[in-house]
Amino acid sequence: MSSVIQAYRFALDLGPGQEQALRSHCGGRRRAFNWGLARIKANLDQRAAERTCGLAEAELTPSLWWSAYSLRKDWNLAKDEVAPWWAENSKEVYSCGLADLAAALGNWADSKRGKRKGRGLGFPRFKGKRSGLSCRFTTGAFGLAEDRRHVKLPRIGLVRTHESTRKLARHVERGTARIRSATVSHRGGRWFVSFSVEITRASTAPSRPESVVGVDLGVKSLAVLSTGETIPNPRHLDVALGELRRLQRQAARRAGPDRRTRRVPSNRWRKTQARITRLHTRVANVRRDGLHKLTTALVRTHGTVVIEDLNVSGMIRNRRLARRVAGVGMAELRRQIEYKAGWSGVRVHVADRWYPSSKTCSACGVVKAKLCLAERIYRCEVCGLVLDRDLNAARNLAALVQCETSSPSCGATRNEPAGNPGKTRTTRATGTATGRPAPTGTGHRRRRKAPTASTQWTHVHSHFR
Ligand SMILES: [Zn+2]
Repeated sequence: MSSVIQAYRFALDLGPGQEQALRSHCGGRRRAFNWGLARIKANLDQRAAERTCGLAEAELTPSLWWSAYSLRKDWNLAKDEVAPWWAENSKEVYSCGLADLAAALGNWADSKRGKRKGRGLGFPRFKGKRSGLSCRFTTGAFGLAEDRRHVKLPRIGLVRTHESTRKLARHVERGTARIRSATVSHRGGRWFVSFSVEITRASTAPSRPESVVGVDLGVKSLAVLSTGETIPNPRHLDVALGELRRLQRQAARRAGPDRRTRRVPSNRWRKTQARITRLHTRVANVRRDGLHKLTTALVRTHGTVVIEDLNVSGMIRNRRLARRVAGVGMAELRRQIEYKAGWSGVRVHVADRWYPSSKTCSACGVVKAKLCLAERIYRCEVCGLVLDRDLNAARNLAALVQCETSSPSCGATRNEPAGNPGKTRTTRATGTATGRPAPTGTGHRRRRKAPTASTQWTHVHSHFR
């Protein structure tokens, strides 16, 4: 039994006046967010200006607190003046906007102080009319209706859903789910409600716990497994892509907006755009469905799943690969495998980004110097292996783990700094023969002073030679 937080999303079938009410709620959230941001920004600018005039810290205008609590308190004092229509919407949406603002400011401050991983975050920006419509309810009357075809929302009341809510309703009735919040959002021409739910899951062990499977994300097919299975791309995907091409040609023939001449888009252009949006959503849905089916099947069957750590954003920057890679949704696949593996106790092994899974021969272990992307069949010159390229890669991935568990010496030979970069994340050493710069962290320095693992020492050594 494990407790996880899961989202249940339902498309909404809005009745008359309900869309207007939802838009009003989302607008209320935007108003509160922008109001708070303007206040904080003015305060910060004022203090910065005073500092440049040479005022001492104590003489500056006092800084404003930006916790969600104090922002809400200030909003309640100002709302009659700022938004006299506030009573039309649930008060939750204003709290939601201010809480989001507090989180955004906190993230920005942490990022500036270097307390956050990843790329630096900028100062929060004002939300325009075109930013996504959404609002969140955390308290009040929201949840599922008894008939399993409606959801309850504060202020708005009962809203019909396009599909039955039984999957979540059963959990709620059994007492294994607690709904924490409801988020309403508008995406691809449709309204959705997404419940964030704390669910107690019975953990399901995989049917073959000792089996190791390597997954090579394909270009032609969705994925190739080391077991020899090929998972084809979801059906309808190519049809939808052809249709998308047709619609985009159609849009190009119609009069779209032009900033320079201030041309207003024609209604015909707008109609085509709406169709394109719908189709994009459909393609994304088909793709996500295929990925979910694959990842669920993987973690239900195998005890260990080996995937590659692909440099997805780098590959998308390569124009020729871009659509293919983005199309398969590689990053999404990894995300799904990782969280689903946590539910069923499956081990996920992520091969190092520089591990040449495609270039290595899965029979004799020889690494080819070069392998074109167009070569779909792997031919080994040393042992004469002829195998599908993706299957060869998948087998290499699976071998990474099988190798480690069966004989430790095998893993060590793979880690030789003589040019074979067959390393994985679990046996990661600093500085590599492939030219990846050694990280300059404290851990690195510690290793140099007291080399405990001999393999790591040889790596550091070779790097500094
Ligand atoms: Zn070979």
